[in-house]
Amino acid sequence: MKANGNISKNMAIVLGAGATGLAAAWRLAQKGFDVKVVEKEDYVGGQAFTLKHGDFLLDLGPHKLYSTIDYIMEIIHGLLKDDLLEQEKRSKILINGKYINFPIDPKEMVTVLKPWQATRCIVNFLYTLVTSGCKSKEVHNYEEWVINHFGRVMYEMFVRPTTEKIWGECRTLGVELAETRIRVPDIKEIFKEIVLRKKPERIFNAKTFIYPKYGVGMITDKMREKIIELGGTVSCGLHPVRVETDNGKISRIKYSDGSFDNLEGNDVLVSTIPKADLINIMDSSPDDNTANAVESLKERSIILMYIVINKPSITEDNWIFFPEPKIIFNRLFEQKNFSTFTCPGDRTVICMEITCHFDDPVWRASADDLYIKTVKNLQSAGLIKPEDIIENFQLKLPHAYPILDIYYKGNLKTVMEYFDKYENLYSIGRQGGSIYGGVPDCMDMGFITADFIISKKHHSHWKAEREKFNGYFVVD
Ligand SMILES: Cc1cc2nc3c(=O)[nH]c(=O)nc-3n(C[C@H](O)[C@H](O)[C@H](O)COP(=O)(O)OP(=O)(O)OC[C@H]3O[C@@H](n4cnc5c(N)ncnc54)[C@H](O)[C@@H]3O)c2cc1C
Repeated sequence: MKANGNISKNMAIVLGAGATGLAAAWRLAQKGFDVKVVEKEDYVGGQAFTLKHGDFLLDLGPHKLYSTIDYIMEIIHGLLKDDLLEQEKRSKILINGKYINFPIDPKEMVTVLKPWQATRCIVNFLYTLVTSGCKSKEVHNYEEWVINHFGRVMYEMFVRPTTEKIWGECRTLGVELAETRIRVPDIKEIFKEIVLRKKPERIFNAKTFIYPKYGVGMITDKMREKIIELGGTVSCGLHPVRVETDNGKISRIKYSDGSFDNLEGNDVLVSTIPKADLINIMDSSPDDNTANAVESLKERSIILMYIVINKPSITEDNWIFFPEPKIIFNRLFEQKNFSTFTCPGDRTVICMEITCHFDDPVWRASADDLYIKTVKNLQSAGLIKPEDIIENFQLKLPHAYPILDIYYKGNLKTVMEYFDKYENLYSIGRQGGSIYGGVPDCMDMGFITADFIISKKHHSHWKAEREKFNGYFVVD
């Protein structure tokens, strides 16, 4: 317990200044905690960071903001006020050499398929619909789930190439990933929506989104400002090197600059850094089971290839998907189409996402090699001419997407139970909690965690509380 004049304040150390950590720190600072955020990079934002590159403001991948969690949207509006734009979403997918709207409209899909492809898809889909309607089948992985709902032909033709490019082998992926991403045609839902004009229970595709005028990083920058206004600190370029434990609690954190904090009484540690990195610096060695589980919780990595083009614009879309395996990237996004305030009028930037596993041959490929392949693919997709390119650069995100494979739930449970041994430790966020959500979900996670800490409920209730984080789903 730290003494501050006559008022005794509890301390909250927050590791990581991404959307999750900053939201938790902000709420805790509002409720009187002495807050210290520790960020290893020399900027805040994590994945929700906007890079300043010459005249351009560039996000780390396309960031549309949309959520059905109303209070979070109100908070974002309150933070950014007139600096928020309401944008109409425009996205496409390249199939058989033609661009069609995404999410795919089946009527449009038929126009890009060769007649034999369309016939096979429709016949197989109808057969699947009838047979799966007759008997419910137990499914164990992503592949079985998709085949059970849409048929093998559609799976092999589109779903498998698209998914494997982004996530890796479909058979190793869990059912949860499909359930949170793919809309299954439900006759009852369609009837309710069209005839009874009832709002659907779940929105899979939003037609609009909000976006900060100068990039998604405005949100995390604002949260940082709020924390500082409330007397908290946000230390960038600093990381923990040792986390000491005593009697079932985190007792001391030592940092890369030689400084340290002692945690006493009701002081807490909220960690949003990768779980393995936290375990590695804890003084208590994990048992073999925990060590194996944390090692097995993998993440997909992304190489972001930015190309500056000497033209006012390249596409009219926010992003375009490229499912074909021969194209090295899986998605392109054009920053200017999120906000014209982020780019100069006469030039534009396109960014291609190349997804891979950390340290695989793609991750290790030379920047030149990836650039040459990307430009060739862009040319053959009819998007650019090499003479229009001004410059290119690449950024690498080792921890881009948590992989929700068939074992992840069990592995995550093991790791979380290990953290639960320490009653003042909360590991949350995209990396800290393996939660695959967007910026609003991460903010929600941060606020829920802070509220739980403030409530002073016994730590044994934390397990049930964090179950709420499993309810986030991706809206296209
Ligand atoms: C390509 C891409 C596209 C996306 N598109 C969208 C979208 O359209 N809409 C949307 O809402 N969301 C989107 N997201 C997701 C969103 O950006 C993330 O879910 C969110 O920003 C994650 O926040 P976080 O705080 O949990 O994790 P992070 O942002 O990863 O924050 C963790 C922080 O911890 C820091 N850290 C790591 N190790 C240490 C250490 N040892 N010590 C101190 N600090 C450390 C990191 O530097 C980082 O700042 C996208 C993400 C990606 C990668």
